[in-house]
Amino acid sequence: MRRHFSQSLRFQFLVALSGVLLLALCSLVMLSKWFIVPALHEEERGMISQELKRIERSLALAQQDLLTQARDWANWDDTYQFVQDNNPRYAEVNFSPEMMEEMRYQLIAFFDAGGEIYFLSGLAPDTNDFTTCARVADDCAWMALLIDSIQRSIDNTPDQQVFFSPGISSPAMVAITPILRTDGSGPSTGWLAKVRLMDKKWVKQMENVTGLSITIQQQPTSKAIPLTNIEGETIHAQHLLPTNVPAISILVGTQLNRTHYLASLSTIRYVLIWTVCLMLFVIGFVLWLMERMILKPLKALAVFAKQTSNEDSNQNSARLCQRNDEIGMLARSFEQQLGRQRKLNAELLNLSTHDALTGLPNRRLFDQRLQTTIHEMEALSQPLAVMMLDIDHFKLFNDHYGHQQGDKCLKQVAQALQKVATAHNFLIARTGGEEFSALLPNTSAQQAEYIGQLLHDTIDALAFPHLASPVAPYVTISVGIGSLNEGTDISPNVLMSTADQALYSAKAAGRHQVQIFTPPNADFSAASHDTSL
Ligand code: GH3
Ligand code: MG
Ligand code: MG
Repeated sequence: MRRHFSQSLRFQFLVALSGVLLLALCSLVMLSKWFIVPALHEEERGMISQELKRIERSLALAQQDLLTQARDWANWDDTYQFVQDNNPRYAEVNFSPEMMEEMRYQLIAFFDAGGEIYFLSGLAPDTNDFTTCARVADDCAWMALLIDSIQRSIDNTPDQQVFFSPGISSPAMVAITPILRTDGSGPSTGWLAKVRLMDKKWVKQMENVTGLSITIQQQPTSKAIPLTNIEGETIHAQHLLPTNVPAISILVGTQLNRTHYLASLSTIRYVLIWTVCLMLFVIGFVLWLMERMILKPLKALAVFAKQTSNEDSNQNSARLCQRNDEIGMLARSFEQQLGRQRKLNAELLNLSTHDALTGLPNRRLFDQRLQTTIHEMEALSQPLAVMMLDIDHFKLFNDHYGHQQGDKCLKQVAQALQKVATAHNFLIARTGGEEFSALLPNTSAQQAEYIGQLLHDTIDALAFPHLASPVAPYVTISVGIGSLNEGTDISPNVLMSTADQALYSAKAAGRHQVQIFTPPNADFSAASHDTSL
């Protein structure tokens, strides 16, 4: 029976292993999708917020620094006297464009105890012109927005403070502190405010300090902005900081690269691809091993079984039986089983072709041999003789001595006949109750008559007592011989009927004799193979 590939062990192994591969792959993909990639995202978000906080801390430090600088000036007897009109040279000595530029002050403003402007000094943002004045007008008109913001803060919180404020073109950082004596004693005679613009130059300086790229710009608080924006390998992260004007906020942004995230991602991909390759290799290797260690020997075992049943074992089979593994065990037990089977078959064949009582070939075997021998003799153009032998008055024997003794007699007669048959190389069979038939290839009628007489005499020589026989006081036989001359075409039935007729003649002539039948021109085609006399 031809098996489909899908039924083969090879296919089933392939399917099972592919299933395992698929399962492992799905697990890996899910693992990376549900655990690894989200963990990387989380880590990236953590990194973004950490960097934004670092910028915020730097801004807070810068504010603190500005406040310290403001307090340094505000807690100073000279300033204390200046806002009380007691230090006329103060402005001349302490303010210069170089100082303003060097300290990166956009504006320094003094207010009296009532919060009114006392003195202003600034660098115009567009022209960088140094101006000093006592009110917001003319050259100091650009200060209006900042002064307004500062005065509002003084009104709200009459204490030192630092905050971000909307600036002229860029946002500003403002520090306000009450003016006191150098020893910190009061009462406060006014307020000192220092304003530093967070312009490009300042941002550059911050970038150098933090090592991060920073953008700072002011925008309406209401404007919605995405906190992170990913573009390829870069993340733009930003954060809104409040100013003292609620409607305006400062947008602090930074650009971060995703090297770590992308490297981890490509590592995962790399691991996935390698895992797949490795598993494919393992599957291939396992299949190859199975092919070599299981499937090939199994195939050889199947071939071996086929050959052995054809009684044609070869070297391959011997090799299989010599194996020490399970396949070898299987081959050996298979061979043993086959040996037993063969023995049984032989026994069965022997039983079906031999007579149980005498052990002689039976009618079945005799008829088979007769058929083939006739053909052989015809082909070889050799003569053939057949004989029918019958124990005389055997019924009387049974009646006189009993059936058991009859069996014993049959056995001894058969044994004696077989001895002669073996010596003269012909076949003798028990073809009826007390009847025997002989097949003598390449034997002429004359030779057959001699053999017939020999058989006849052999039974006489047995001298098996038969006191009930009217012929002799011992067991005797009658023999009828039929012969076939070389080249004659005749059927087995016709040939046997010649021997039958000869036996009939022997019986009719008083038994205990040999008769040969050679009909002159008689037609035997209608004769039957009937031995009953
Ligand atoms: P004839 O001389 O004409 O051959 O007479 P016969 O008595 O030998 O022939 P018949 O055919 O009348 O009887 C054959 C007898 O052989 C009858 C039967 O009981 C006996 N017989 C046949 N088979 C066996 C057997 O297996 N064992 C025994 N003990 N007797 C058998
Ligand atoms: Mg008989
Ligand atoms: Mg008889």
